[in-house]
Amino acid sequence: MQRSTARILLIGSEHALYRRFGEMLTTAQTASYQLMWCEELENSHGEAVSGNYDAVLLDCQQNPEAALSTLQLLVEQAGQFPIIALTTHIDSVVSKQVLQYGADDYLALENLDNYVFERCISYAVEKHAVDKKITQLNLYDPLTGIPNRVLFRQTMERSIDAAKTQQINLALLLINLDGFKKINESYGSEAGDRLVATMAQRLSRCVRKSDSVARIGGDEFTLVLEDCCDREDVALVAKKVIDVLSAPFTVSGQPLIVSCSIGVALYPEDGDNVDGLLRRANMAMLEAKNQRGSQYCFYNEETNADAMYRINLESDLRRALRRNEFEMYYQPRVGLESGDTVGMEALIRWRHPERGLVSPKEFIPVAEECGLIVPIGYWVIQQACKDMVAFDASGKLMDVAINLSFRQLQDNMFVDTATRIIEQSGVDASRLEFELTETAIMSNYQQTYEGMMALSKLGVTFSLDDFGTGFSSFAHIQRLPISALKVDRSFIRNVVKDNDDAIIVKAMINLAHSLRLQVIAEGVETLDQVQFLWQNHCDQVQGFYFSPAVSANDFSLMINQRATAAI
Ligand code: C2E
Ligand code: CA
Ligand code: CA
Repeated sequence: MQRSTARILLIGSEHALYRRFGEMLTTAQTASYQLMWCEELENSHGEAVSGNYDAVLLDCQQNPEAALSTLQLLVEQAGQFPIIALTTHIDSVVSKQVLQYGADDYLALENLDNYVFERCISYAVEKHAVDKKITQLNLYDPLTGIPNRVLFRQTMERSIDAAKTQQINLALLLINLDGFKKINESYGSEAGDRLVATMAQRLSRCVRKSDSVARIGGDEFTLVLEDCCDREDVALVAKKVIDVLSAPFTVSGQPLIVSCSIGVALYPEDGDNVDGLLRRANMAMLEAKNQRGSQYCFYNEETNADAMYRINLESDLRRALRRNEFEMYYQPRVGLESGDTVGMEALIRWRHPERGLVSPKEFIPVAEECGLIVPIGYWVIQQACKDMVAFDASGKLMDVAINLSFRQLQDNMFVDTATRIIEQSGVDASRLEFELTETAIMSNYQQTYEGMMALSKLGVTFSLDDFGTGFSSFAHIQRLPISALKVDRSFIRNVVKDNDDAIIVKAMINLAHSLRLQVIAEGVETLDQVQFLWQNHCDQVQGFYFSPAVSANDFSLMINQRATAAI
């Protein structure tokens, strides 16, 4: 493992000893050595550090005290070279002290012969080479050859210490490749490995020598910038990294552009230790992930607040179920032919004890992520059925539409539990409609299909929510027991002003009718929109023009008033 000629530095001895060792080493049997000499202890440290030696011999005979303090200095460079102390006797006090001070070995000069001398040096050099290799394996990522998480941490700790003393700032960039899992799945892990190795190479090439790059996870890299004057400089580097990493990568003969998300945390503003900075860089990285394509984000307090908010939200949600903090609101659906309220959509609300009314847009995604959507969903079905019975008392029977999340249908108990709830409520299942989005259906088509088929046997119907925003294919929709399409609000918003949207909405209405499906327009806010939809034979409309979602009480009052007005 050692190079052909090992370089040895002798420190602090007299010329005679240098000559003697020189002679002993020229006759060495096992390897070839080159001996250098540094007489002065005081100057030796710099030489030892810069000289790229394979071993250092430190003479501790003449002036043990000075030699020991030199030893201390040299030991700080531990890892660069092994240190062998030269003492007088094996049993001397100094012989023991040098080991305590961190020397790798010692040689007592009394009765020293060629054989022992040579063996001691060759052992130190060989052993050191092995240790170095092990360290290399423990500290460097074998795939990319760049530092791993352990070394990243060590280096970062050292950089922070240095930055503290020198009062300079640091920037930690956390770089995460987008869609790496997908690439691994689609092209195989060999392609994934090659991608990571290529990205590491590109990254290492595009930074300054003083900046350190590491791989701290599967598709996660760090870059530490030292003494970067301000945010603009850091932003320039982040942009450069994005440029370099987004060059096409060839896989199976095809160029693939891999985007990345970068989170930045700054020392000292955002934290003064490795874990704190890493955590914040990670939050900023997640923020960048939320945006499309390659992006970088600096950590800011809001990011932190967002993340904390999400964490709190989850535990608050669990409590909300137990404490009955959810409420059902209802938004009328109006039939365009009759102008009557023909049904309503049940929309959940959360009355949070401190935050007030929380929008489902905020908590449904969290509930989906942590699985709470399943019990929440049961509560919704139960409450909607209960309210329906109460609305019936007004004399006018109306259908109710309930939103279903993709996670609910993935629950094996869903069909049975939902069936039981509906049956116990006593409502006629054919007056219930479940709204599912295209994305929900496509996320697990087979399971969703089976669940829908089983439920439709009860008599419940289904509609396709947010139509136009997902990717469901015609072939899929046709097989499912769907009776209505709900044109997404985004197409209705400009339907009167934007000719393209008008063409799309007309086409959607025609498509639905040719499939014998009803069409419901969502987010109808103006009379113009109502007229456009009426002229183009849309079946139902729902939106603020008629009413926002209101509490069950208000909904009852509303239908009673309308009924009275009609009389
Ligand atoms: P969605 O199913 O698309 O529901 C329609 C949303 O649009 C509702 O927001 C409604 O208040 C709003 N909206 C209705 N008319 C208009 C309008 O004219 N203009 C505008 N700008 N908005 C209008 P909401 O109640 O905040 O619900 C948001 C989403 O949360 C729903 O979107 C649905 O995906 C989800 N959600 C609500 N309740 C439930 C539930 O019980 N279970 C599940 N799984 N998801 C629910
Ligand atoms: Ca809906
Ligand atoms: Ca919708």
